[in-house]
Amino acid sequence: MRLPRFSELEIRRKLVLLCTGVASLALLVFAGALWLYLSAAYQHALQHEMSTLASTLADNSAAALAFHDNESARETLGLLRAEPRVTSACLFRGDGALASAYNRTERSAPCPAHPGRAETRFSGGQLIVTQTARLKGEAVGQLIVFVGLDELYSQIRKLGYIMACALALALLFAGALSARLQRLISRPLLELALVASRVSEARDYSIRARHTSQDELGLLVEKFNEMMRQIQTRDAALERAHSELEERVKERTAELREEIAARLLAEQDLVNAKEAAEESNRAKSAFLANMSHELRTPLNAILGYSDLLQEDAAAEGNESAVADLRCIQRAGQHLLALINDILDLSKIEAGRMNIQPEPASARSLIADVAPTIQPLAGVNHNHLVIEQPEDDYLVNVDAMRFRQSLLNLLSNACKFTENGQVSLKVNRDEAEDGTYVCFAVTDTGPGIAPDDMKKLFRAFSQVDSSTTRKHGGTGLGLSISQRFCQMMGGSITVASEPGKGSTFTIRMPEFSLPA
Ligand code: ADP
Repeated sequence: MRLPRFSELEIRRKLVLLCTGVASLALLVFAGALWLYLSAAYQHALQHEMSTLASTLADNSAAALAFHDNESARETLGLLRAEPRVTSACLFRGDGALASAYNRTERSAPCPAHPGRAETRFSGGQLIVTQTARLKGEAVGQLIVFVGLDELYSQIRKLGYIMACALALALLFAGALSARLQRLISRPLLELALVASRVSEARDYSIRARHTSQDELGLLVEKFNEMMRQIQTRDAALERAHSELEERVKERTAELREEIAARLLAEQDLVNAKEAAEESNRAKSAFLANMSHELRTPLNAILGYSDLLQEDAAAEGNESAVADLRCIQRAGQHLLALINDILDLSKIEAGRMNIQPEPASARSLIADVAPTIQPLAGVNHNHLVIEQPEDDYLVNVDAMRFRQSLLNLLSNACKFTENGQVSLKVNRDEAEDGTYVCFAVTDTGPGIAPDDMKKLFRAFSQVDSSTTRKHGGTGLGLSISQRFCQMMGGSITVASEPGKGSTFTIRMPEFSLPA
């Protein structure tokens, strides 16, 4: 099993370990130093005691040495029996000869051959004290005392044991104390952690940590509680804003639902109205198509018969009948034109007008209308000018519908102008959105007031009803022509000045043959 790392331990274990570790280290250092100091003190005391003993013995043996009284010297050495730590002793005379020796046991060290100089030293596991014996200040010999160190060692060992026991007890005490004291730090922290986890689980920001001390931990708890207070306030504000928002969303949703329902109803109404309009439009178109067919058949018969009758009357020389029959024929033709216009308009509005554009040259289109318009110009004594373009241009048009539109413009110009000039010019306009071929019909007629210009292209609209009475017309021509031109990708524009004349221009995109 892997031992946990220090950083992974619980804080209370860390605290106990830290306190005990620091205390152990301090105690160990202290105990070690004390032990060393006491050991040195024991050695020093032994040295001192044995030096004193050797000095006393040397002084006592001085006379015996001076007078070569070996017996007396032996007796003096024999006093050492009272000191069990002395293992042996040797007494040398001044000439270096051994006067006497003392051995506590048979295994005691033998005396050296020479006494050596006076000193105190540890050597070979024993203390050797060499002392000079003096008589009246004169050296008469040397005393060497060998002291066994067993007792010193045993004392030092005992001291070691005692200190080890004291150390162990101190450590135990330190451990127990730190285990108790760590609670002072760990308990508030653990409590704080517990409160924090309760807050995060229950999302209850009203919970507060208990304030136990006035130190940094107390400050930490205080700041934590302050933080909780702030969060609680913000949470409450957020909650309020949230419920307000929900309320507003509910209200808005209800409003939107109502709006959608109203719109759906309106949409349904519109769809119904559109369907109804389409239905009535279809019905109108069908009616108009049928009616115009039904009207055209007898009208063609009337025109045909009036033509025959006119020929017969002319052959008989019945001039008054010829005049009446001409009137019938003019009225019939006007009616036929009106029926044709209505039929065209109804087809356009029903989306059933079939346009088949084909490339056509401007010159050929003008050449087609010129013969038709020539007699019309003569009616009001107008001078007709047709300017064929120098370069021929191509336009992509339905030739029949284009001719109809151009003829409408020319016949209007001839109709509303008297003793004036009607001209047709073709030119090319290079505009930003493309190149156009423009067919401009200009007259020197009455012109059109600016307010009336807007009405020009509306169906059944005529600028001045008096002109209708005078010139006839339905108010459909411009409207139909404009729709035809738009269906072919072009348009009709108008520029006019009352009293000076008007210019109606058909603008068609130029057709260029693929390269
Ligand atoms: P209408 O059959 O009445 O000619 P149009 O749609 O062709 O119908 O013309 C509508 C009206 O525009 C005319 O009734 C007339 O008042 C006016 N108008 C058209 N062309 C000219 C013109 N060249 N000069 C003056 N007025 C014109």
